[in-house]
Amino acid sequence: MHAIGIDIGGTKIAGGIVDEFGTILRAERVPSPADDPRAMEDAVVAMITSLSSGEQIGAVGVAAAGFIDSAQSTVYYAPNINWRNEPFRTKLEARIDLPVIVENDANAAGWAEFRYGAGRLYSDMVTLTIGTGVGGAIVANDRLFRGGFGAAAELGHLRLVPDGLPCGCGARGCIEQYGSGRALLRIANECADAPGVGVALAARRERNGVLTGADVGHLIMAGDEGALAALRQLGASLGQACASLGAVLDPQVFVFGGGVAAAGDLLLEPIRAAYRDHLPARGYHPEAEFAIAELVNDAGVVGAADLARLGADAQ
Ligand SMILES: [Zn+2]
Repeated sequence: MHAIGIDIGGTKIAGGIVDEFGTILRAERVPSPADDPRAMEDAVVAMITSLSSGEQIGAVGVAAAGFIDSAQSTVYYAPNINWRNEPFRTKLEARIDLPVIVENDANAAGWAEFRYGAGRLYSDMVTLTIGTGVGGAIVANDRLFRGGFGAAAELGHLRLVPDGLPCGCGARGCIEQYGSGRALLRIANECADAPGVGVALAARRERNGVLTGADVGHLIMAGDEGALAALRQLGASLGQACASLGAVLDPQVFVFGGGVAAAGDLLLEPIRAAYRDHLPARGYHPEAEFAIAELVNDAGVVGAADLARLGADAQ
């Protein structure tokens, strides 16, 4: 059975027809009317109608950032879209003649990695998406773990530092403040302010007025000592979080996605080292694998479609 996956972001809506091997057969992309719920609904319906014309489609999966109920139906809250208690599944099913599920975007992307990407050889997996913030997904015993209310795996808001830096979620010391792309920029700026290895970071900031993620990424790839030191500090925080997650979930693999994961082994090495240093019962606990996500930009579309197809098969 072919299914449609739709990934709603703050700036664009991506959609595609996905087969049972996780391959996107046809894709579309339109701007996202993020501040207008009615226009959002119309845009998603138009994309589903366009993708499904002349095709045999069995189900539709929609991925979006936010808290979504465990019935995969109502979006309680979306940070980038003007949705509050939005019954999006009911609204879509009233307008298209297909079963629909709505899923958190990090969960959908993690599921795609589990089925077709870096997690495909394992039964238990944790993904951490290192973008502007930190997203998470948990697969336990071959199943996506959603929690009792549907809001599980908000791993970016795991507390790493008691009374640490304030976080956008209202708490303090969340891993997102120490392990995200935004945190990498903060650490790089601190490195540029201090005497020592931050000279290239400081020079670039001086020239452009501000340090960007692209600047830091470029210096990392060029082997600059300051940028690499910032990345190692980021990795050390993420590795500590992985040790704690290991104590709870005992995954066989941690998969890292998002823009910062483009650093590859340069990111994974400090993560692995800090994980080993902080792993409870070190030396007696089997050590997890660490991998970079493989599906990158398509993961949300592929994962949402796959979850919709499996849900429709089960009925
Ligand atoms: Zn937080």
